[in-house]
Amino acid sequence: MKNKELKILLSAPRGFCAGVERAIEIVEKSIQKFGAPVYVRHEIVHNKHVVDNLKNKGAIFVEELEEIKDKSRPVIFSAHGVPKKIPEDAKNYKMTYIDATCPLVSKVHREAENLNKAGYHILLIGHKNHPEVIGTMGQLTEGSIDLIQSEEDASKYQNNLDKKIAYITQTTLSVDDTKEIIKLLKNKFPDIKEPMKEDICYATTNRQMAVKNIAKNCDMFFVIGSRNSSNSVRLVEVAKKIRM
Ligand code: SF4
Repeated sequence: MKNKELKILLSAPRGFCAGVERAIEIVEKSIQKFGAPVYVRHEIVHNKHVVDNLKNKGAIFVEELEEIKDKSRPVIFSAHGVPKKIPEDAKNYKMTYIDATCPLVSKVHREAENLNKAGYHILLIGHKNHPEVIGTMGQLTEGSIDLIQSEEDASKYQNNLDKKIAYITQTTLSVDDTKEIIKLLKNKFPDIKEPMKEDICYATTNRQMAVKNIAKNCDMFFVIGSRNSSNSVRLVEVAKKIRM
């Protein structure tokens, strides 16, 4: 009996984005420059293979600066970005720090700061406890940003402050789900200020689009990634939705 041919479609673009490549390179170059060990606050990117590989080269991963025993060693902040307090703490500890925050996340941080200066109260569409969301909320004083996680949050949100409102988003959200949340917010608050340029980054958008294009033609769809990677989990959701 002839074997049934197995056809594998490869999604394109796929794999690491420029922000992740950059962060990995920053850790590798820091180890070359300063020698091992070099500390990294939080997984530099949410990918076990990358993290294990960097551990073998001399990186030590911690969640907080307080865990670092030898503060004479440099510390690198992950691609997800950090609250403003973290570099300040590193300065107080007299630590050398290197910021590997993706420039597209930094763009959202500056956006939040500028909106705050212009008198806006900010709604951040994103996922609670994701390091990027913690970093973005930590750019401003507590109470300056409210988190909107779902359509339900958007429907229930009341602007009780006598302030104009604006929204920003996490860079790695589902493009389609976010559109629905934004639609609800705009219906409720027609004057809500939106970002000049989409906050969901090009890499997230392109990869979701690529999955949409091929998932409908597949009997089985594999996303090779980490369960704690927002981008990987979103791609699984996109593939599932398109095949439903
Ligand atoms: S913001 Fe986009 S480009 Fe930057 S690290 Fe995250 S996924 Fe990659």
